Amino acid sequence: MTKTLLIKNARVLVTMDDERREIADGAVYIRDNLIEQVGRSADLPQQADEIIDAANHVVMPGLVNTHHHMYQSLTRVIPAAQNGELFNWLTNLYPIWANLTPEMVHVSTLAAMSELILSGCTTSSDHLYIYPNGCKLDDSIEAAGKIGMRFHAARGSMSVGQSKGGLPPDRVVEEEGAILKDTQRLIETYHDAGRYAMQHIVVAPCSPFSVSRDLMKEAATMARSFGVSLHTHLAENANDIAYSREKFNMTPAEYAEDCGWVGHDVWHAHCVQLDDDGIYMFGRTGTGIAHCPCSNMRLASGIAPIRKMIDSGVPVGLGVDGCASNDSGHMMGEVRQAMLLQRVGFGPDAMTARQALEMATLGGAKVLNRDDIGALKPGMAADIVMFKLDTIGFAGALHDPVAALVFCTPPNVSYSIINGKVVVRDGVLGTIDLPVVIERHNALAHQLALAAR
Ligand SMILES: [Zn+2]
Repeated sequence: MTKTLLIKNARVLVTMDDERREIADGAVYIRDNLIEQVGRSADLPQQADEIIDAANHVVMPGLVNTHHHMYQSLTRVIPAAQNGELFNWLTNLYPIWANLTPEMVHVSTLAAMSELILSGCTTSSDHLYIYPNGCKLDDSIEAAGKIGMRFHAARGSMSVGQSKGGLPPDRVVEEEGAILKDTQRLIETYHDAGRYAMQHIVVAPCSPFSVSRDLMKEAATMARSFGVSLHTHLAENANDIAYSREKFNMTPAEYAEDCGWVGHDVWHAHCVQLDDDGIYMFGRTGTGIAHCPCSNMRLASGIAPIRKMIDSGVPVGLGVDGCASNDSGHMMGEVRQAMLLQRVGFGPDAMTARQALEMATLGGAKVLNRDDIGALKPGMAADIVMFKLDTIGFAGALHDPVAALVFCTPPNVSYSIINGKVVVRDGVLGTIDLPVVIERHNALAHQLALAAR
């Protein structure tokens, strides 16, 4: 039995197709989890098993979040970590994160995904790199299944503790053999290589300053033997560059290349301080970047030269980054900051609203190495979001409702459809009981903060 869904009467339907069409009075016809037709409401079928009236809405492809640490939503705004740069911030938070439990990973993933979904995101990656007290990546994968989000779960890791010259305390690092073994188990258990997959596994040592060169190289070999992607943090701030020069006598880009960490199956978070040679090399090799403007501002890391990267052919997606360095997980808010921050750095024409939206849809899809999400056209996955326009935030901006999504107050969705399933209806998340999740999440965050004292 197939099920059909028709979304019609959209004020504007943003396709992100090859011509970047924006269709007035637009409609989308969906069969099961796939988009079958896109066009004007009058030209599409008039009947379906379910019909959603999108009058007074912008309808667009679901946003793609390419970098996050969802467990960090438990440690937002920790006083000792409010005002430091990256290394100081990490050093204050590692001891708190050492008390994480499997339930905390599960509940924080539900909370972080709720915030993402309500703010327009339908596909997210998550980079979990700390596994104390029996925590597993399985805890977040189960949460994604429950809430119904398309998920790229990155098996992070740290193996070089303070006693070996790394940044994290020894008690939160793992042994490298165990990391690789668990990564292989996760790929074999969960990775779906098919089109329209809801679950990907990503091989993701945390950063050059918390794992060895051997692990970077072995991770690349393993990822390629299974055909999965690679992800890590790179060139985030000046200290990060200094560490790379001192330990490896290379720039971060040179180190990444040396470890085999370039190509269309690799994406690096931040790259705020990537030099010109690195940018050109990433462009040449199709190596992707997760741009996280709020986190970069929060930690005073700098302004990533995104305009130059895009012009050099580097695939760039957007990431909210972990909730301890943002401390928001609002995807449309991140789109807005991306546009504004490029202007601060590189002038008022450095990024338009539509370019920012493209980075958050098509850009993110490319960075995650997918061609089945990020646009509304026949044959794509039915990941669709709707934003209501007759709200106070958009009052006076309706002559350009698409740009208004980015220039005005970041909106929440009224509807979100993920893989053909209506996950948000009339602004309410239907797959989980959100007030219950928030209450439990707050109790666990309190427990974590107390344990750190
Ligand atoms: Zn990060």
